[in-house]
Amino acid sequence: MTSKGTAAFGKRQTKTHILCRRCGKRTRHKRTGECASCGYGKSKKLRKFNWQNKKPVGRKRPHSRKKPKAKTKKTKAKKTKAK
Ligand SMILES: [Zn+2]
Repeated sequence: MTSKGTAAFGKRQTKTHILCRRCGKRTRHKRTGECASCGYGKSKKLRKFNWQNKKPVGRKRPHSRKKPKAKTKKTKAKKTKAK
């Protein structure tokens, strides 16, 4: 009896997916020629879905109560030098 896990992986000898020319992953189907990752051989455009990127949940930044920076002498001096 062999389990589905590590022992069964030793019996895998045939390749169903070969290296993809476009994305470099081993996801291009040997017989159909379609890449499961980027869609090479299937479409000219790259295979992409919006659900691949996880959106940030909640507020983006904590509200900062910092006062706007007052102009210092250094910045004024630089401006005068530039002129
Ligand atoms: Zn690909």
